[in-house]
Amino acid sequence: MILFKRPDDLIDFIQKKRKSIIKIGFVPTMGALHQGHISLIEKSKSENDITICSIFINPTQFNNPNDFKKYPVTIEADIEQLELNGCDILFMPSVHDIYPENFQKSNFELGYLDNILEGKHRAGHFQGVCMVVKRLLEIVKCDILYLGQKDYQQCMVIKKMASDLNIPVEIKISPTIREENGLAMSSRNKRLNEAEKGVALVIFEVLSFLKDNIFELSIPALLQTGENKLTSKGFKVDYIEITDEILNPIKNAEKNQTIVALIAASIGDVRLIDNMMLNHANNAE
Ligand code: AMP
Repeated sequence: MILFKRPDDLIDFIQKKRKSIIKIGFVPTMGALHQGHISLIEKSKSENDITICSIFINPTQFNNPNDFKKYPVTIEADIEQLELNGCDILFMPSVHDIYPENFQKSNFELGYLDNILEGKHRAGHFQGVCMVVKRLLEIVKCDILYLGQKDYQQCMVIKKMASDLNIPVEIKISPTIREENGLAMSSRNKRLNEAEKGVALVIFEVLSFLKDNIFELSIPALLQTGENKLTSKGFKVDYIEITDEILNPIKNAEKNQTIVALIAASIGDVRLIDNMMLNHANNAE
């Protein structure tokens, strides 16, 4: 694996490689890598000639300075995992490389996505996400960008940004990788102790409950039961929602409709998000 720290060096390298027409896959991350990240690397490797992973803890997407300060950093283990899994290039820029003095901040028109769920509870978060992804794509210029469904709303935001700005990139979304017990893998899980990990699992249990009962109980009853289960285990719930495919809350569950459930909740000062498809439109009978 080749490690690049300076954007210009990576840009030069990619330009040279492009002369022999190669396909490039890109997996942007904030490090503290786990099997969820690695699944994206594996997918990219199977579909491209070169796979690039970036590790950059993007300050502009943290609405909570404490969350930024405490974000887990495990660079040596990350490098080892990437090498073990055959990643070709690791890009590890500094904050100054991504946001140089002359960096022009732009405002991304994200519509309702900026005001609901993660957008509502983390003011400015998606503006920061768009800022860093746009900048990374200017440097990496990949053919395919790999994202995880774990961050469902983020996938929608990045797709909108890329389409609005005519960025020529294909975006592929991969399923959420979970621990054996169902807990969605997340870098932030590293901040949980064993007891808290047991509590964290309740998010998956609630999502599974919603899935099992989506056509049995009313939406308000499902949400109320889900929220009660979470709060009774000590979670502070930011939201629990049942929506259609584009995140509009639904009042009734229809069998011919894609239905998604999304949860954001904190244990202590660790905020976790997860989601689950409760029904696929094409499963209609
Ligand atoms: P992060 O390092 O948390 O910014 O995540 C980098 C990429 O990995 C994003 O596209 C995430 O959606 C994706 N990702 C994070 N956790 C998982 C997971 N458990 N399964 C699949 N993809 C994930």
